[in-house]
Amino acid sequence: MAKKIAISIPKGGVGKTTTAVNLAAGFAIAEKRTLLIDFDPAGACALSLGFNEANMHGDIFQVFSFTKFIDAVVHKTKLPYLDFIPCQINTYDLEERINRLSRNIYLFSNVLDQQALTEYDFIIIDCPPYMKGLTTVALAAVDSVLIPLRSGQFSVAALKKMFNQIEWVKTTINSELKIEGILLNMYEPRTKAWALTIKSLNKHFKEYLFKSVIPKSIAISEAEFYGKPSMLFDVKSKGAIAYLNLTAEILNKNAVPNIYRLTEADYIQQANK
Ligand code: ATP
Ligand code: MG
Repeated sequence: MAKKIAISIPKGGVGKTTTAVNLAAGFAIAEKRTLLIDFDPAGACALSLGFNEANMHGDIFQVFSFTKFIDAVVHKTKLPYLDFIPCQINTYDLEERINRLSRNIYLFSNVLDQQALTEYDFIIIDCPPYMKGLTTVALAAVDSVLIPLRSGQFSVAALKKMFNQIEWVKTTINSELKIEGILLNMYEPRTKAWALTIKSLNKHFKEYLFKSVIPKSIAISEAEFYGKPSMLFDVKSKGAIAYLNLTAEILNKNAVPNIYRLTEADYIQQANK
């Protein structure tokens, strides 16, 4: 049975998509069969994995609207253990339809329970930067939520909102929902903004903070232009190493055996594909 993790916080630009893509790649590199599902109508995961209109053949919402079976919309990626389901909402009409469909709170749980998905070890879901609709549908269906955060007072405010929503989901729809952890992203040591953010987080959220933090890294932002997770772009970069550390931390926390077998030469070969 796959462990299902939603990447979510009601705040834009904090690194949800970046974390979804790089964590999914990290699990795949650790040879865990992983499925990344883009649940954000913005559809950014596809770009980060090198997909475009021409090489995609269906998306998650065709499954929702019963026009395709789930196996027909699973895309293979450059990493043998990583599969991907995109989100291709490119008209207002479609977005409206999705919003209507997402009123059925159990829709996604039913989709994730399908036989075709039992082969995965991890399913990662990249959520949009708002709580209503799709995010609630995702939270109803997953085992845990990973919350990325950047520095700033607004981020801490969004975190409080996120925790309120998690409580609501737990009491109304999914009592088993857990918090996988809070991830500090675009971390810059010795900056006042981060010192203040951490001081504020330590008051209420200390127990949820991952030990791994993701530094602000040029390789992370550049990698997406090349349609690659950071490990396939520059495995020695601080960003790639940080995401591999996060992967290991989550595997250890969940008591999943963790054997990295790929060598650096393998990464380079994958990156050049
Ligand atoms: P949205 O809410 O709009 O979906 P998001 O939370 O998914 O945004 P991302 O798209 O992952 O955020 O990241 C926003 C931008 O920040 C991207 O251009 C990404 O490359 C950059 N970014 C994310 N994490 C890092 C990092 N650790 N170092 C440098 N740049 C980063
Ligand atoms: Mg995003």
